Amino acid sequence: MRRAAARCWAVARRCGIVAYSIIMADILAREIKYVAGVGDVRARLLEREVGVRTVGDLLMRFPYRYVDRSRILRLMDVDESMESSYVQLRCRIVGMSYVGEGAKRRLIVDVTDPTGGAELLWFHGIKWIEKRIELNREYLIFGRPSLFKGRISMVHPEIEPIEVALSRKSESSFRGVYSTTERLSSAIQAKAMQTIVANAWALVAADANAFRDPLCEDMRRRHGLMPLKEAVYNMHFPQSAERLKQAQYRLKFDELLGVQLTIQARRTSRHKRGGGFLFPRVGEAFNTFYREKLPFALTAAQQRVIKEIRADMISGRQMNRLLQGDVGSGKTMVAFMSMLLAVDNGFQACIMAPTEILARQHYASMVRFAEGLGVRVAVLTGSSKTAERRTALEGIAAGEVDILVGTHALIEDRVQFANLGYVVIDEQHRFGVEQRAKLWTKNQQPPHILVMTATPIPRTLAMTLYGDLEVSVIDELPPGRQPIRTYHYFDSARLKMFGFLKREIAKGRQVYIVYPLIQGSEKMDYKDLYDGFDSITRDFPLPTYRTTVCHGKMKPADKDAAMLQFKRGEADILVATSVIEVGVDVPNATVMVIESAERFGLSQLHQLRGRVGRGSEQSYCILMSGDKLSKEGRARLEAMCATNDGFQLSELDLKLRGAGDIHGTQQSGDAFELNVANLATDTQIMEVTRNEAIAILDTDPALQRPENVALRALRDRHCKRERIDFSDIS
Ligand code: ADP
Ligand code: MG
Repeated sequence: MRRAAARCWAVARRCGIVAYSIIMADILAREIKYVAGVGDVRARLLEREVGVRTVGDLLMRFPYRYVDRSRILRLMDVDESMESSYVQLRCRIVGMSYVGEGAKRRLIVDVTDPTGGAELLWFHGIKWIEKRIELNREYLIFGRPSLFKGRISMVHPEIEPIEVALSRKSESSFRGVYSTTERLSSAIQAKAMQTIVANAWALVAADANAFRDPLCEDMRRRHGLMPLKEAVYNMHFPQSAERLKQAQYRLKFDELLGVQLTIQARRTSRHKRGGGFLFPRVGEAFNTFYREKLPFALTAAQQRVIKEIRADMISGRQMNRLLQGDVGSGKTMVAFMSMLLAVDNGFQACIMAPTEILARQHYASMVRFAEGLGVRVAVLTGSSKTAERRTALEGIAAGEVDILVGTHALIEDRVQFANLGYVVIDEQHRFGVEQRAKLWTKNQQPPHILVMTATPIPRTLAMTLYGDLEVSVIDELPPGRQPIRTYHYFDSARLKMFGFLKREIAKGRQVYIVYPLIQGSEKMDYKDLYDGFDSITRDFPLPTYRTTVCHGKMKPADKDAAMLQFKRGEADILVATSVIEVGVDVPNATVMVIESAERFGLSQLHQLRGRVGRGSEQSYCILMSGDKLSKEGRARLEAMCATNDGFQLSELDLKLRGAGDIHGTQQSGDAFELNVANLATDTQIMEVTRNEAIAILDTDPALQRPENVALRALRDRHCKRERIDFSDIS
């Protein structure tokens, strides 16, 4: 079989169509059930639970952390901070007892060391354990502690007589911990998993075809990279901390080189597509508006960004710019004024908003701004009535409309622009990449594109994900804004929160109360929302208080009616799901209450908070949460209370959640399958691989040279969704 594969490989190499999987040859492709210690049942579980089907899958699935097994803790040193990590203890068994009957039977083992005591628990496999432990003997215990009222307990730890443990010589004191699932861990415990990986490694160790290095020696030398096979070995069985670091570096390098080969190839193709429209004139509409109609002085940041956009518009290159500006920083004005630049040069512009409400709001402001400028504005949304729709469609096709405002209805094929020169996309993260790419097809020549977002991502990450996307930042709020005060209350303090709301409403202010809506649990979420609504109407009865409700399941017309009611001040309290997250402008609303705030992501919390603080009054954001918070949940709420700065929050978000989950990068993050590398923190490797990728693609854009063929596999392995073009996020 191996010979057949070798032949196949030779033929493939001649044809230049070799794939990495062929290099990885038969052993890595072998089904996992043939590995010693696996068998049919475990194999099926491994595939179902963690997607491991072959030896190669198993060996490319690395430990997510390592435990230094030379370190043994004293019980008195175990504290809450260790709750989700593994520790090793050396204890004596001083008691054994059983609780419960039948299937509910549990084994409780009391252990002590000279500094304290702990409790070990088994829910299943009790017979097996019983045979292996003895009172008054000393054991090495390995597992995850949990603390309740100062008492340490450990569920299903590994346990081994101390003499046995100490006599076991191992090459390294590091032991990998593999991620697992509940089902999987009951069939394959941590130690068994290690053994299985070791058995799998034994199969490939001597096979020169397994883990052939895709990087040439020259590149390895230049970057001081460990050979691939050695790296894989050290990921599983680190010979030392230093070797482990080198192995991780090597594997990150491969992953990020794969990512960069994808991104940079797209960048090159975008450049090839060539020129952008020229808007040389700063004309009448812009000047009149600037001199006579601008309702306030622009902030320095707004001015700078408008200049940056203008520079792109006269550069001859098509603009593809990301505008990051915190909530309330005045992005709409930048959008409007830059659209005037297009209009003054005889082009049409459009602005696309993620929701109906926001599109209508933009339309209203743009009509107001455009008054007396001779600039014609139209609107088109999913709920546009026939007349409105006709006006927009005909006006746009005939070139009679200059600015079209709308939702993703703008992407529909029926919308034909006479002369589209500029597209603004507001609150980018609500649009799918494919949707945005569709706007391209509306023109022979691509329009200039500005994507605006209130949830910034660090510049290095933006550059990496979006290739050569230009980035502008509004880093300043209009003057006179009072920072919003944010507080975190546990549910138990609800009455106190209600009291506060009543005082604010008595002052004539309005209040948002927002409930989470999480995919997959909508049903429960809507129940929470309605329960909440009921309790609020009870505690805030008519006629003193007027409460209204708004959520995504309502008919658009009802939703709008509710929002309008609130906007006009005809309701004191708006109970809503996060549909109000984006853009709604009600300056008299001063309190944002976020229920189950621990269930929201940081950027979403920040977005929601941005709905208040829009007027001159002091505004508040109140984060309600249950008593039991995860470490991460607590960190998010604390961060919210500590800062109003969206940039700081987004950096933190990135650290807490990884790049894949950050808004706008969501699709991109998902699209790269990264095991070891982290887009948020491995910026240095990102930089290095970026340059390598550019250099490689410069000489061999399609990776066709024999020495680059293996790189093609590297590239494809880490990109799930080939179709998406990130440099065309617009
Ligand atoms: P966002 O960046 O969140 O989209 P908006 O464009 O909605 O922010 O602006 C928020 C509010 O600030 C609006 O009411 C807008 O009119 C006002 N605004 C924008 N720029 C300025 C400025 N330079 N001075 C004063 N107010 C401004
Ligand atoms: Mg906005």
